[in-house]
Amino acid sequence: MSEAISAVQIHQALIQLCSTIEEQKGYLSELDGAIGDGDHGVNMAKCFRGVKAKLEAIAPADVGTVLNAVGMEVMNSVGGAMGALYGSFFLRLSSASTGKLQVTLSDLASMFNSALDGVLAIGKAKVGDKTLVDTLSPSVDALNEAARENRPLPVALAEFETAARKGMESTRDLLARMGRASRLGERTLGHQDAGATSCYFIIRAFAQAGKV
Ligand code: ADP
Ligand code: MG
Repeated sequence: MSEAISAVQIHQALIQLCSTIEEQKGYLSELDGAIGDGDHGVNMAKCFRGVKAKLEAIAPADVGTVLNAVGMEVMNSVGGAMGALYGSFFLRLSSASTGKLQVTLSDLASMFNSALDGVLAIGKAKVGDKTLVDTLSPSVDALNEAARENRPLPVALAEFETAARKGMESTRDLLARMGRASRLGERTLGHQDAGATSCYFIIRAFAQAGKV
């Protein structure tokens, strides 16, 4: 792997993500069903079917253009809070990579810091509230540290994915404080959060983008 990920690689990784979301539809809805209303997989799969069509219709000219296509589709196709949260996430990734034919580790860190800020500003969830922020925030921390330490890109991406996976798993032992699940209080203990899980699949797609 080189020290940058190209627009073509990101484009391919995001098309792969659409297949992953389709494959994980049942699992994501099952997780949401335990402590929410059971529609997270259905919501995500419907949305990412649209994303796939948009991605297949564009040429991956630059990273910002590819991510803008995803963000616009997510914003418009997912109802409710998730559309705004993941829509803002992808649109912020796009704004921070406008015109870039490839992105380096420091570009990725800037992009994901901006995306995290967007999600926090809209959702107002904090780490520990049992949401997708529990996956996103520690993975962005890992990316920042890797960029600070000037680690090789493949190492940084592996750390990015590991932190996301650990963050996702941490939601099992947390009490839900945001969204529908918060109404169930103690009953949410022992269940992994659905949004934290879909967020892990998204981060993993970026972490693997250097390999496609
Ligand atoms: P809904 O809650 O409308 O049914 P989904 O089932 O698609 O929507 O998504 C539920 C997920 O949304 C939760 O698992 C959680 O991770 C995430 N979530 C809910 N509220 C917030 C918030 N304020 N900030 C970040 N993520 C949130
Ligand atoms: Mg739901």
